[in-house]
Amino acid sequence: MEKLTKTQGSTPLPGVPTPEQLGKIGRYTRRAFAPEELYVFTAVLCDNQIDRDGERFSEDCLQQLAGLFVGVTGIFDHDPTAAGQHARIFETRVEADPAQPTNCGQPYTALKAEVYMLRTGASQGLMDEIEAGIKKEISISCAIGRSVCSVCGEKMGSCSHIPGKEYAGVPCHIVHQAATDAYEWSFVAVPAQRRAGVTKRAGSRPEAAVPGEAFLAVLGRKYLEQLRAECVRLNCIAVPELSRSQAESMAAGLDPEELEGCVRTLQKAAGRRIPLHPQLGAAPVSGEKDSSAFKI
Ligand SMILES: [Zn+2]
Repeated sequence: MEKLTKTQGSTPLPGVPTPEQLGKIGRYTRRAFAPEELYVFTAVLCDNQIDRDGERFSEDCLQQLAGLFVGVTGIFDHDPTAAGQHARIFETRVEADPAQPTNCGQPYTALKAEVYMLRTGASQGLMDEIEAGIKKEISISCAIGRSVCSVCGEKMGSCSHIPGKEYAGVPCHIVHQAATDAYEWSFVAVPAQRRAGVTKRAGSRPEAAVPGEAFLAVLGRKYLEQLRAECVRLNCIAVPELSRSQAESMAAGLDPEELEGCVRTLQKAAGRRIPLHPQLGAAPVSGEKDSSAFKI
């Protein structure tokens, strides 16, 4: 093992595990390590803020993930071959900060992890970056068992609430209520590396209280998709002679305002054929398992 040189005068080495931490880490190592051989740091894995995709974890879900992520190893920049750049979570906790409200008015609550890695020449750069706050964005990969609408608590997609639309001052969003598995976690170096649509991440700090442009854009797209689906569905009821693909082609050519108008008209027309309860956003539920495993 290479000699450690990251000392400035009498400054103690950062990230040296306490005896208690060393004991917990010992459950995973095959030999005893001296504290100076290891580097520990705290990471925020995820929290209860509404994220850019209009989703958030419930506190119960964070508690479940806390149990699931103990012992899980992390990789860096999604590169499992990066030599010496492996780390393992040896302890987790869910920490609430009642003084800090989230963007939906709840006390900010985060799932924090204590992580250890080997101090080697290969990991020195990474440790420096963590210490300097350069490496702090983490993405987690887990399986979610149940997600519900934030407004009514019904299973997502089965109610008429519109994602992103404000109800009592809070945009309608998806609440993940149950986690069933934890796969991996990873430092991600460049925010742009985000795997579009499937990867979410929580930084070390909570996001701003106001939903960002990207968040609103995602919700806007979801709303538009739901409008199109509703337009097609109503068209098929109101005008049964029309094939589904014809209805889809028509809906694809309309802008949001035209779609809204079309849905209103078709609701009346369809209502004359069968009794309808005005419903928007009833996306077809194609089996629970479709969305049960994804990257956060
Ligand atoms: Zn709802």
